[in-house]
Amino acid sequence: MFDTSVKTTFEYCSVCEAEHTMLDGGDIYDCWVYYRMNVEDEETKRKREERVEVWDKENKVWSNKSSGQTSLW
Ligand SMILES: [Zn+2]
Repeated sequence: MFDTSVKTTFEYCSVCEAEHTMLDGGDIYDCWVYYRMNVEDEETKRKREERVEVWDKENKVWSNKSSGQTSLW
């Protein structure tokens, strides 16, 4: 279950303009987790998981491995 002894802080994130946890000072992974947990609906989630996307560190976009296409989320 949820361990309340671990302090969880929610901070405003200028990247995605939401308040969410900032692990290790916050990075795109926190935005991604927040987005998936709170914003994305089940249908979108399911569709996305049918695709293979990887985070392209150089271009800071999600990149579709098979097609080479990019998308924001
Ligand atoms: Zn964020």
